Amino acid sequence: MTAAAAHASAQVAAQAAVPAVLPAPPPAAHRLAELYVDRRAIARNVRHFAHATGTPVMAVVKADGFGHGDVAEIALANGATWVGVATIPEAMRLRERGIAAPMLSWLNPVDADWEDAIGAGIDVAVTSFEQLYAVASAAERAGGTARLHLHLDIGMSREGAPAESWSALCVAAAALETAGRVRVVGIMGHLSSAETPASRQNDVERLRFVNGVRVAHRRGLTPSELHLAATAGALHRPDSRFTLSRVGAGLYGIDPAGIAALTPALTLTAPVAHLRRVAANTGIGYGHDHTTARATTLAVLPIGYGDGLPRAAQEHAQVAIRGRRYPIVGRISMDQVVVDVGNDAVELGDIAVLMGPGTRHEPTMRDWAEWSGTIEHEIVTRLGVRNSRVLRSYDERWAR
Ligand SMILES: *Cc1c(COP(=O)(O)O)cnc(C)c1O
Repeated sequence: MTAAAAHASAQVAAQAAVPAVLPAPPPAAHRLAELYVDRRAIARNVRHFAHATGTPVMAVVKADGFGHGDVAEIALANGATWVGVATIPEAMRLRERGIAAPMLSWLNPVDADWEDAIGAGIDVAVTSFEQLYAVASAAERAGGTARLHLHLDIGMSREGAPAESWSALCVAAAALETAGRVRVVGIMGHLSSAETPASRQNDVERLRFVNGVRVAHRRGLTPSELHLAATAGALHRPDSRFTLSRVGAGLYGIDPAGIAALTPALTLTAPVAHLRRVAANTGIGYGHDHTTARATTLAVLPIGYGDGLPRAAQEHAQVAIRGRRYPIVGRISMDQVVVDVGNDAVELGDIAVLMGPGTRHEPTMRDWAEWSGTIEHEIVTRLGVRNSRVLRSYDERWAR
């Protein structure tokens, strides 16, 4: 063995030697990505809608509370009086959790478990004759009366009843009401363009709704709940409020019109799990989409698209560590991302804030939506899928 080779192998041996005192691992709380849900933010947003709109608020908690988890209780404790979800199974889970508030489920197949809904006192939306008859026959079997909201399509071309069948649907519902099988307690519509409050389309669709209500009255129906507005309508189109606003996005701090200053509720963090120093011209991640321009330090965060981070945000995405912004470099992998922290003193276990209300220089959900070409709704809904949620704010987390 040459002297140089002997020297090199001695070095490797020295590096492989286990230190006499093993370094302590970072605190346990630092090892996983965490998703914080700020209950106070949701409470504040609900109160804003209840006060500013002057109409009762239906808290829309479909898709697991837009990814925020069990938030119906918070909404109801802060001014919401109704709860809204897409499907009957979603509504049943809320009832099983002890939520007794008036509840509406609006998107169900013809063979849904209508008897479950009737038995649990869950209102259902009806958009077709097939659904109407299925619900009425379930009510007959259950020996009860189904509470219905007839849903008129005013322009979405989605799940509402088409205008051509509206009058006949009202007639059929009125006949079943007389027979005691159903009670039409509400009429609903959904605006296609409320995110553009000044759009004339809102005027057109509101008129269709008003006409639909008039037709229902003429056919003998006496619904007490007339609801058209979702978040954007409730905020920016007072003429769309009627007797109830169905508020989803707004509860979580999202104004689809991008005007109102609501409070985002989510904070997403991940610890620095790995640090390494690399030379200039080092390729990073799959395909080497990014190559270092100079020697730098890379921090690996254990979070990726499998946790809901949009892969498409590559090239733009940033995180905040110790209040400073750093870019995510290379591709966003399923379980990890690489952050270029330059020559800064970042340490193992430091917490990277990927997304939050924006109060600590961290990116917001709106930033992530813009970086990845989508809307905030999609960002927050995806994050809830795999991340374990902590029902307290990031501030509360560090308060003790
Ligand atoms: C999701 C949904 C809502 C809530 O809409 P936001 O814009 O999130 O407030 C209201 N109504 C219907 C029919 C929906 O599907």
